[in-house]
Amino acid sequence: MTLHASLDAAALDGLVALRRDLHAHPELRFEERRTAGIVAGRLAALGLEVHSGLGGTGVVGTIRGEGPGAILLRADMDALPIAEESGVAHASRHPGRMHACGHDGHVAMLLGAADALARGPKPGGTVHLVFQPGEEGGAGALRMIEDGLLDLFPVEACFGLHNWPTLPIGHFGICAGPVMAAGVRFTILIEGRGGHAAQPHLAVDPIPVGCALVGQLQTLVSRRTDPLAAAVLSVCMFNAGSSDNVLPSSAEIRGTLRTLDGDVMARLRDGMAALVEGVSAAHGARGRVTFHGAYPLTANAPAEARFAAETMRHLVGPDAVEEPTPPNMTSEDFGFMLERRPGAYALIGTAEPGRPSPALHAPTFDFNDAAIPLGVGYWLGIARGWWGRDAA
Ligand SMILES: [Zn+2]
Ligand SMILES: [Zn+2]
Repeated sequence: MTLHASLDAAALDGLVALRRDLHAHPELRFEERRTAGIVAGRLAALGLEVHSGLGGTGVVGTIRGEGPGAILLRADMDALPIAEESGVAHASRHPGRMHACGHDGHVAMLLGAADALARGPKPGGTVHLVFQPGEEGGAGALRMIEDGLLDLFPVEACFGLHNWPTLPIGHFGICAGPVMAAGVRFTILIEGRGGHAAQPHLAVDPIPVGCALVGQLQTLVSRRTDPLAAAVLSVCMFNAGSSDNVLPSSAEIRGTLRTLDGDVMARLRDGMAALVEGVSAAHGARGRVTFHGAYPLTANAPAEARFAAETMRHLVGPDAVEEPTPPNMTSEDFGFMLERRPGAYALIGTAEPGRPSPALHAPTFDFNDAAIPLGVGYWLGIARGWWGRDAA
């Protein structure tokens, strides 16, 4: 175990202080200007080549090693529009926004790796450290790609890491194939005809249409999808009406659809469109669904997943590596990178034994700083191990 070999106590204290400072100053998607400034400043101070402003507020730091070839290590920087209830001393100073997904920890871990890599020993080739904006619903990874990320920084493989509060601290999770779901958000608009609450026969009330649809939509998963294929459809918003004696003219329903298979996703989208139009028409209303914010499947390449697992085993021992870790129905915009380059998206445990961990996106969440040296150790293992790996 060479876990702390590249991270002395002072360096670790510095990373914890940095992580807590980022936690106290969360920034929402594509507004990560302070965070990006800190990242760029630290990378420049280490003597790295720094490229800022990619995909809005994205930052890339480059470490050139001896030989040919390049890989990409990615952290996300954005926070969420949630009012923090953690009660910690370093809680958000900004009402209504907080680091509830631990991206503050992701930034600290990758900066810790940057520091150790800059001091040496250098990796066998080039390592691009990517700090991306807008992971939370903003497809920041895609924005960086559209801004030329993979042209400016050509890589043979890409790696991502997310903290995981149901996995014990000191443990890692990895799997080949799907690790996170393909996801898409939907908005259903039902247009009826408004009228007096006491004269429903003179109106086309969109509310019972919407209620019928909320129930009917679930049959797409329960009756139209192979029970062995994972799919979830959640209605999360239902907005209609503004008075208790007026029938509204329209209703809006919004939610999300997730699958672990692109074909299942396509069939469910078609099924939704048919159901929304058909059920609405049967009630004399007009309904249509629009889809937006699609995230692809986050699917790990077998060879890179194997290399990631080997790196983990070297770091924490075979008993602390969950392989294959079960896939999740959450979504991740790292999938946009994995669509274009082989790579692996891994999970790092943050759960303390005997202490319930708040879930990701919970208002009580706070990243577990005890994971920082492990995350740094993982990144160093990937960066330094890539060029000496057994690629068989
Ligand atoms: Zn999140
Ligand atoms: Zn996250």
